[in-house]
Amino acid sequence: MRILVTALLLLSAGGLAAAQEAAKPALRAGAATSNITPPLGDHIVGGFSPFPATHVHDELHARCLVIDDGRMKVALVVCDLLGLHRSVSVEARRLIEARIGIPAAHVMISGTHTHSATSALGPFPRQYVSDLELDDYARFVAGRIADGVVRAHNLLRPAEVAFGTVDAPEHVFNRRWHMKEGTAPETPFGKVDPVKMNPGAGNPNLVKPAGPVDPEVSFLAFREPGGRMISLFAAYSLHYVGGVGPGHISADYYGYFCEALKKMQDGGGDDPPFVAMMANGTSGDINNIDFLNPRPGKKPYEQMQYVADDVAKKVHGALSQVTWQAAAPLAARYRELAVAWRPIDEDLLKWARETEAKAPRIGNKADLPLAYAGRVQRLAKASPETKLPVQVIRIGDVCIGTTPCETFAETGLEFKERSPIAKSFLVELANGYYGYMPTPRHFELGGYETWPGTNNLESQASVKVMDALLEMAAEVKP
Ligand SMILES: [Zn+2]
Repeated sequence: MRILVTALLLLSAGGLAAAQEAAKPALRAGAATSNITPPLGDHIVGGFSPFPATHVHDELHARCLVIDDGRMKVALVVCDLLGLHRSVSVEARRLIEARIGIPAAHVMISGTHTHSATSALGPFPRQYVSDLELDDYARFVAGRIADGVVRAHNLLRPAEVAFGTVDAPEHVFNRRWHMKEGTAPETPFGKVDPVKMNPGAGNPNLVKPAGPVDPEVSFLAFREPGGRMISLFAAYSLHYVGGVGPGHISADYYGYFCEALKKMQDGGGDDPPFVAMMANGTSGDINNIDFLNPRPGKKPYEQMQYVADDVAKKVHGALSQVTWQAAAPLAARYRELAVAWRPIDEDLLKWARETEAKAPRIGNKADLPLAYAGRVQRLAKASPETKLPVQVIRIGDVCIGTTPCETFAETGLEFKERSPIAKSFLVELANGYYGYMPTPRHFELGGYETWPGTNNLESQASVKVMDALLEMAAEVKP
């Protein structure tokens, strides 16, 4: 009798273990790419005045990745856009939730910040609003994002995940410089700031950069168990490279990176195709100009190809060092913060009105002051608070946080340092676009990124965003 009971116990224990094994959540991943190239004639944004697109050099895409841990799903999307308005992200995430049930809070949609794309930010000049009626292109982009995520969802298959980092310091430079006293030119507001953005490569009056760079490429890779690659989501803190042809649409180095990495994979052209994604890390004050060692001029696209090939080569090399894991529990948090729009005082408003009133008499020289005079007056009319989207998504032991701003490198470094999850990094320009977000110390230093109308938020915005990100990271910590 005793033997029988023991045998039954053993049997049921074995049965339980088998049942647990069967119920063990299996990681799955799927990825797809949606074309979001606008029609010729639409206006390219990124500079002070938009101009019509006359040629497509390379197509623009929304690159979409869906991950399923067996209990919940998340979607990561990277779009070849200067940025996307919060309302575009809201609409895309609404469509995704309605069609495949992935909750809006579990979907992260970011823009790369290519400067050779048209606007998914609403009309020009830009309005300071958190809610926007979508125009034709914005609606098209939202629909294509949703289609891409649905297609990635259709392609979900068993997967393994790996995290890696690799340094690529030679392409990133802090673009904000302390200048020798009295050498910085006047701002559009008629003042001289201690710090100058893009002071000119080889300028003899450079003293030192006003902040650090983050040379690290962080990446999450997904592959079929022991087999071919499904997708790789990377983030690097480089504003964009530029150097496109006149009137050209291009995805900039982000697109080149994805193509280069794809070529390096065995079976990269297989069906379904490997989808590489390059998100923008925190590059509000970082660009590709070596201010101390000016480089000779290059042909259009030459420099972006060079940067993309090198970063892809480094990531591909790092892939051979990673540890693949069969499971990656997911978690996500999304909040909208009531951060104030940039306050505009009476003196500044007076300056803006006077500048606008006398503009026709001072001709072209007034262009920059005139542009800021308009921005200042529109900011003064903004509702008191934004709905600033911030998000964290945990994939296994990796945490990705997001901001909807052009975020400084030191903010990204601070998140990596302070996050309660050791493997953490930030992606900027996600789920909205609210201009530059300098840290409080940079407002004292001045420069382009801190001017009202380039910066659109209160000076404590970066602190509030960091606090919220760290809180959410603590909530999703394993
Ligand atoms: Zn920018």
